Amino acid sequence: MRIFSGIPLLKLHGSMNWLMCSNKECRKISIFYDDIAHKVAESGFHIKCKNCGSNLIRLIIPPIWNKNEIYSDILKRLWQVARSRLLEDAANNLFVVGYSLPESDIYARYLLSFILNYNNSLSISVINRDPKTDEKYKQFFERINIKPDRYTFLQCSFKEYIDYNF
Ligand SMILES: [Zn+2]
Repeated sequence: MRIFSGIPLLKLHGSMNWLMCSNKECRKISIFYDDIAHKVAESGFHIKCKNCGSNLIRLIIPPIWNKNEIYSDILKRLWQVARSRLLEDAANNLFVVGYSLPESDIYARYLLSFILNYNNSLSISVINRDPKTDEKYKQFFERINIKPDRYTFLQCSFKEYIDYNF
């Protein structure tokens, strides 16, 4: 089942409801409802790939540098789409939900640095409960010469943000 909306939602580190074929020659990615995808994590429950019949496994990528080239191949296209969309003139607000910008995530730091330095109309809002995350972003933006007025930290959960604003 495909679900579309008017706003692109790019999950750059995979998702709890994404499953990937365990067969190296296939690697087809499928998206499921959360409750179905969660069952795959339970022992003894398998979903077969529609393409080749191998078992599907969860596709969550820890935010660390190039630890697994399988993941980087799979997500390469997704990251390219994100970069392209964020460089467009129409891209002026980037919302980052929950992500804490770990030092080890060189990919994400590079992407943020690149797009914020090339798209000067882009502002970034980070939705996260942890004030330490705010400090990390501030330090990072200072290091890459991004003016503080382009950054907003919203200290709340995603649900609180949605409930309050919509
Ligand atoms: Zn397969």
